[in-house]
Amino acid sequence: MTRSKVENRQSKIGNRKSKILVIEDNEQNMYLVTFILEKHGYQVVQAWDGREGIELARQVKPALILLDIQLPVMDGYAVARELRSNLALADVPIVAVTSYAMVGDRERILAAGCQGYIEKPINPETFMDDVERYLPAQPAGGGGDS
Ligand code: MN
Repeated sequence: MTRSKVENRQSKIGNRKSKILVIEDNEQNMYLVTFILEKHGYQVVQAWDGREGIELARQVKPALILLDIQLPVMDGYAVARELRSNLALADVPIVAVTSYAMVGDRERILAAGCQGYIEKPINPETFMDDVERYLPAQPAGGGGDS
């Protein structure tokens, strides 16, 4: 019973199972982002600092990376630059999630290799739409492995 309900719901959202890597050191933001993404059928891989994020990006090859800019050890700019230097990850969109997207920051974010940014505080109403604008198109009807 329960199982078929779950499967039903998943088919309604198109069986999306893409992995999204979230690099975020703030617990509340991590939990909120994870909750929203999982609710929409995505698999979330969590990294709590930039080093771990780069390592996990290599391991799981996510469909998209959400990157906090204010991170311990190495900041989001450095993380984005290092990710962009990895050819195996060249086609993985990186979206900065940042609370201080001033004019200059926006340029720095893009110059570091991010495709765009989403502003904090995270708005649960619009967050998923914002993320999906950056996700590579899923094959219609699914089933493709490539
Ligand atoms: Mn942070």
